[in-house]
Amino acid sequence: MSPADTPRGALPRPDYRTLTRYTPDRRPVAVDLSDNTNLWGTPPGALAAVRGAAPDALARYPHLYADDLREAVARRHGIDPKQVATGCGSDDILDSLWRALAEDGGTVAYAAPTFSMVEPLSRMNGRLARGVPWSRALDDPATLLEGDPVMVYVCRPNNPTGHVAPVEWMESLVHAAGPDGPVILVDEAYADFAEESWIPRAVTHPRTLVVRTLSKAYGLAGLRVGYGVGRADLVAEVEKSRGPYKVSRLAEAAACAALADDDGWVARTVAECRANRERLAAELRARGAGPLPSSTNFVLVPVAEGTARDTALALRSRDVAVRPFPACPDVGDAVRITVAPWPLLERFLEAWDSMVAEGAP
Ligand SMILES: *Cc1c(COP(=O)(O)O)cnc(C)c1O
Repeated sequence: MSPADTPRGALPRPDYRTLTRYTPDRRPVAVDLSDNTNLWGTPPGALAAVRGAAPDALARYPHLYADDLREAVARRHGIDPKQVATGCGSDDILDSLWRALAEDGGTVAYAAPTFSMVEPLSRMNGRLARGVPWSRALDDPATLLEGDPVMVYVCRPNNPTGHVAPVEWMESLVHAAGPDGPVILVDEAYADFAEESWIPRAVTHPRTLVVRTLSKAYGLAGLRVGYGVGRADLVAEVEKSRGPYKVSRLAEAAACAALADDDGWVARTVAECRANRERLAAELRARGAGPLPSSTNFVLVPVAEGTARDTALALRSRDVAVRPFPACPDVGDAVRITVAPWPLLERFLEAWDSMVAEGAP
């Protein structure tokens, strides 16, 4: 049979067909508190690195595997550059790891609710995602290992709840998984706003990888930079899978400057963000709402059953965007609010008060 006669499979492949494009509501508003990016802006050192780039930075390909960035990450965490993989946003690291791991059909386990990309990234890569409610997973981490997953995804601190799974819990999960078990992927997108990190453990354990992003505390969401940290042998597999040229030269230069944080801009804005987070939570509590405790740059606020979307729409009609979470496992309906400089949060609180006063949603 010639190649032309070979019967072709369905296009796209069956397990891919139900995937859709990512379509959150991104119509412009005056105050956008919906995506957890840095509303203080971008570190001045990173801007200067972009502005000062030589023409070669655009005309020529970037470095194959962004070695300057690997060095900058290694310096930031006191580890070896061989323990660092970089990518076009941390989603790219997740995707590369998913692709590198095990045979088709394996499952990815996660505690729910969590990062909305886990389901689609799993399916794109021919895996099934299996969610276990956080309440169950926290009671017994072994529930995440039921059905022999190829990977366990733990977001720490978690998006959208804001909580940090305790260290002892992580230790028992890693212990129960064992050295030959599934890879434990620890997404630390928000660890810059929390007190602790799994990075010191990840570089010694054969099967844990920590993923970080420059999209949140570092104010570089528009440049798309993320990195993974783990043992050099695991990191090498991720680097193969991600391929060359994934981080542009401008992104690499800006990310190196942001990570060095020579002028302390990142540290200062993170401190202000944490203070504003507690102030916002107190203001919400004073209004009778019950924001969940958060170790991130956002707060999740439960709302009446079935009203998450309408709450977001009511706020949007007052020129403020928040992210709705309808029927969240363990939580119910809720909205997530990104912490911002106080004048923006004041505008949010005005919109909230006006919404409540008018009996909306
Ligand atoms: C925002 C976020 C990311 C960041 O993804 P990038 O691709 O680096 O922008 C990763 N994980 C979680 C849980 C997030 O909330």
